[in-house]
Amino acid sequence: MTEQESLIPILIVDDSQENLLVLEAVLRNPRYEIIEAHDGPEALEKVSQREFAVILLDVQMPGMNGYEVTKKIRELRTNISTPVIFVTAGMNESNLVQLGYEAGAVDYLFKPIEPVILRSKVSVFTNLYSIKKQNEKQAELLRIHDQEERDSFLESALDAVIGMNEEGRIIYWNRQAEIIFGWSKEEALGEKLATLVIPKYYRPEHELGLKNFLKYKTGPILNKRIEVMSLRRDGSEFPVELAVVAIKTNAHYTFSAFVRDISDRKREQMKIKTTEENLKKAIQARDEFISVCSHELKTPLTSMQIQFQLGAKMMKDGNEKVFERESVIKRIDIANKQLKRMGKLIDNMLEVSRIASGKLIIDRKEIDLFKLIHDLLDMYQEQLDYSHIDVNLISKIKSPVLIEGDSYRIEQVLSNLISNAIKYGENRPIDIVLDVSGESALISVRDHGLGIDQENIERIFDRYERAITASEISGLGLGLYISKQIVEAHHGHLRVESQKGQGSTFTVELPMHKEHTELSH
Ligand code: ADP
Repeated sequence: MTEQESLIPILIVDDSQENLLVLEAVLRNPRYEIIEAHDGPEALEKVSQREFAVILLDVQMPGMNGYEVTKKIRELRTNISTPVIFVTAGMNESNLVQLGYEAGAVDYLFKPIEPVILRSKVSVFTNLYSIKKQNEKQAELLRIHDQEERDSFLESALDAVIGMNEEGRIIYWNRQAEIIFGWSKEEALGEKLATLVIPKYYRPEHELGLKNFLKYKTGPILNKRIEVMSLRRDGSEFPVELAVVAIKTNAHYTFSAFVRDISDRKREQMKIKTTEENLKKAIQARDEFISVCSHELKTPLTSMQIQFQLGAKMMKDGNEKVFERESVIKRIDIANKQLKRMGKLIDNMLEVSRIASGKLIIDRKEIDLFKLIHDLLDMYQEQLDYSHIDVNLISKIKSPVLIEGDSYRIEQVLSNLISNAIKYGENRPIDIVLDVSGESALISVRDHGLGIDQENIERIFDRYERAITASEISGLGLGLYISKQIVEAHHGHLRVESQKGQGSTFTVELPMHKEHTELSH
């Protein structure tokens, strides 16, 4: 507050300049600012411009007298309750005094002016005025403080706080709103809330909600937390938690919205949901695996059991045939076959648990791939002959194709691919091609059987996954999973190309032995 503003303004009104000078001389005080007016209209003009602590008004003035001036003063907002002291020459004019009070005067002074009385009367009102001003100042300071506190509270809120008026325009926009939505306070204020933060498809609902609220004073989204989609400056949408309250100020409503970005929470929820779903799937797959596994282990066991029961019965019955060489060999053969089958199943299961616990050990040595495939086919020869399946082994490379790897494991991979080609190849010929591309050796095993539909083609390399039901062709869905893990442990790739009913080609790509790479270049 400036020095000038803190002075106490007093208006003195008299048509005689002499009288004015007297009043001014008596009242002279550094705390007062004395303003003169020479008639009623001039007095009213001054009064309409500013507030006075007290007005000293000559009653007998030409034109507009003191009473009329006072009446008019009371109609002006600026000085509606400013005390007016009438200065009059007439002593004991009781009806005039009465008139003065009716007009709104608070006191009388009689001429000739008694300086002490004048000063003391005026000082009563100037003191009152000072106290009033001080109170107003304090109230203002308090209001500013409250407002600042509220603002800083809202500014530091972790939620975006947005204020909106009845027209749907933004009237408040805190710091967090700037961060979440990407619009600065300056840009947002005055804009339509709907255009800035509400996705297009929600806007009609928002407009209708606002209209209905103004009509019925109630709305479906008020005073609760809801989850909706919101819009960022860059046009991207994101989920928010929103709480809206309506506040009545004077005759109007304003709306405060508290908005929280819940993208992270939603992502977390999605992650948990996917993990739960994956877990459920894994448990389901494991249960299926256990049931298939038991079934697979049970089949060779039952077959052996029957053979032994039959043998025991023949012995008990004294049937000498049971001791005949041919019969004994046949039974041993069957038992061996079934034991081998069981052994393979158990190996597969062990292998899966080894891979899962990261204990797949690769024992690297030089391998001649052609020789390895050739020897492997020898092992399958009997089965192939029995099923009348032709296998063509073609090497497109003259020199030996050498890799560094674990021959037992690579054999496991190729053996899986070959037995699958036999299993799913509908007894049609199988082609095995050995080739070299860049620094890799390529072995492809091609059959002309069932093939795989595109929808399952990725899945078959996963654990326990099959593209066919156990009732069609038995299997555990582990072979390709194990094979892929082994190939990848050799820094290679296992791929498949296939079409339903058109057969399949599985290709193993393995990095070659350095020397060979150099030779083939
Ligand atoms: P399994 O043969 O025991 O089911 P695999 O992991 O070896 O397990 O194979 C997974 C699935 O991939 C098989 O169940 C089958 O649906 C499909 N599959 C594998 N090889 C072939 C193939 N040569 N032709 C058609 N489908 C195949």
